[in-house]
Amino acid sequence: MTDKITERIHQLRQLIEYHSNAYYNLDTPEIEDDEYDALMRELRELEEKYPALRDSNSPTVKVGGAASSKFASVEHSVAMQSLRDVFDMDEVRQFCADFPGEEFVVEKKIDGLSVSLEYADGVLTRGSTRGDGRVGEDITENLLTIASIPHRIKTDARFLEVRGEVYMPRRTFAALNQSQEENGLKTFKNPRNAAAGSLRQKDAAVTASRGLDIFVFNVQQVSGMEFETHAGSLEYLSECGFPVSPEFTVASDYGEVAAAIEAIGSQRGTLEYDIDGAVIKINSLRRRESAGVTSKFPKWAVAFKYPPEQKETVLRDIEVTVGRTGVLTPTGIFDPVLLAGTSVSRASLHNQDYISQKDIRIGDTVVLRKAGEIIPEVVSVAAHGDGEPYMLPEVCPSCGEKVFRLEDEAALRCLNPDCPAQLVRNIIHFASRDAMDIEGMGPAVIEQLIAAGRIQSPADIYLLKEEDIASLDRMGKKSAGNLIASIERSKSNDLYKLIFSLGIRHIGESASRLLAGRFGSMQTLMEANSDSFAEIDGFGEVMAESVVDFFSTSHAKELIRRFEQLGVNMTAQESGQENTSHKLEGLTFVITGTLEGMTRDEAKALIIANGGKASGSVSKKTSFLLAGENPGSKLTKAEELGVKVISLEELRQMLNG
Ligand code: NAD
Repeated sequence: MTDKITERIHQLRQLIEYHSNAYYNLDTPEIEDDEYDALMRELRELEEKYPALRDSNSPTVKVGGAASSKFASVEHSVAMQSLRDVFDMDEVRQFCADFPGEEFVVEKKIDGLSVSLEYADGVLTRGSTRGDGRVGEDITENLLTIASIPHRIKTDARFLEVRGEVYMPRRTFAALNQSQEENGLKTFKNPRNAAAGSLRQKDAAVTASRGLDIFVFNVQQVSGMEFETHAGSLEYLSECGFPVSPEFTVASDYGEVAAAIEAIGSQRGTLEYDIDGAVIKINSLRRRESAGVTSKFPKWAVAFKYPPEQKETVLRDIEVTVGRTGVLTPTGIFDPVLLAGTSVSRASLHNQDYISQKDIRIGDTVVLRKAGEIIPEVVSVAAHGDGEPYMLPEVCPSCGEKVFRLEDEAALRCLNPDCPAQLVRNIIHFASRDAMDIEGMGPAVIEQLIAAGRIQSPADIYLLKEEDIASLDRMGKKSAGNLIASIERSKSNDLYKLIFSLGIRHIGESASRLLAGRFGSMQTLMEANSDSFAEIDGFGEVMAESVVDFFSTSHAKELIRRFEQLGVNMTAQESGQENTSHKLEGLTFVITGTLEGMTRDEAKALIIANGGKASGSVSKKTSFLLAGENPGSKLTKAEELGVKVISLEELRQMLNG
């Protein structure tokens, strides 16, 4: 029996450590918060029941997270602790009963990232992340870019440290994800991740561009003045100009605490920011002092976690659409239900595996919830109706061609390059900033032009007239004129931009530069055979094959002929070769993680084009580890060996410097 329990405890600790790392350090959680909370709760209950199996290293007694070596470390003189979670009102009642006669403060638990701000004589001197609670990361520069954080406050305090939660407003999050998607960059799972990813950037300019905000909720330490109550300290912080914990409530007994928790719960989903609970704190600071802390939490506060709201409804239909990458996406259409403040009638059913595993059929009664309070999803089937097991269509709903399931993919894909649904994607890429850079030609305009039959190929863009554009939704004469001007301007782009815009598999921006530099003109490139690519450093066989295959089709030849006829530049200018130098000569790089705006292959090509070497594994001979988001074990290895870790931005600086 105990063996089984020991094993389960071990397994839970490993699982929790894994997901904590993904969440706190890599900013890419893989499971929902309530699933994580359930693991933690199970572990806590087992450890309580079997005290002999407790461990001072267990995640139940440590604050999750760690300070990354990307930033200088900051030792917190007052630990930045976590909060004890409670999941039902009986536990809240018990908490209140433990402190008879005390007042409580109930606040929204903002779902963001905890930071500390230190002010010496009223001037912001340092800002840091929580890290493991004792040691965090110095992110002063990044925090200074958040407009609502005062750089200077009027205070009698000689020193003041406050704690707050940096978050990304929901609207900002939606806009950021839309632009990430349009630019072909990674999207964020939820506002909390987006906030964490945006704040822990080496380049503060990126943080500045992300529209983050903050709520301050605690005085960590103060000298030169004193507060008696928590509510009093929050009021003071508000007078100093901090945005403080919004609409906090002072409650004098459990009844008032419960009412405040309920009021916050009913606002969930309609707020401008995400919350993941309510925090209940003792108001008297003296009583807090006497209540004390454990290694992980204060004993004077608890966090109430709202259960994810779930509702039953009927699945009326499954709509299948083809995305811009040719992937078939099934979407469930339901009788509308109100969930977390909004009416829900559609939810992605992802792919065939997802549908089959849950055995979702048209006509079923299903349980819906909003994952992370935002994205509606089917939790389970409550009861089958009279529908048959559902299978996705075998042909593309857009062009009628057969669809394929590629190796290692859960999705079905339409591979027909002339499929209208893919045309949208190809043209979005063609017009995007790094490709032909046609300002004003975003997805909405492109979709309308295709629907109206104005463009059937990227070359048709160069036939557009002002009146074709002025008649589209939300386009006036002025914006049509501007768009025509940017289409015209794009004709003289350098050759590498045109190559990149063709969307040839495996050929990113850097590889396009290499091709433009080596061949000089589209004509020479089109006539090149596989051998001539072997001479280009950084150009692999797969890439060469892909280029040759692409230009071998009559479709591509015709496209290029039309571009030429329409006056699009076909030769490399000086700038096409500016990316080749000897600046990295003698240096060996290893690349890890996801780089912003560039694939690892492209980064490799860029390094080689500038005289450097790219290697697959870190050793003492490695000069630099180029690390993006979610670096793997290579980062640990580099840190062990003392290999310098740089960001893509720093690599660019090396090339420009
Ligand atoms: P916590 O839930 O223990 O709460 C502590 C945090 O709440 C503090 O860091 C603080 O910054 C914040 N907070 C926001 N508003 C506050 C307020 N008004 N007053 C006081 N504190 C406030 O947080 P934690 O220790 O960071 O981690 C646990 C949370 O993270 C859980 O919600 C868990 O589900 C989630 N998590 C999820 C995963 C995953 O894989 N999905 C992994 C790890 C953690």
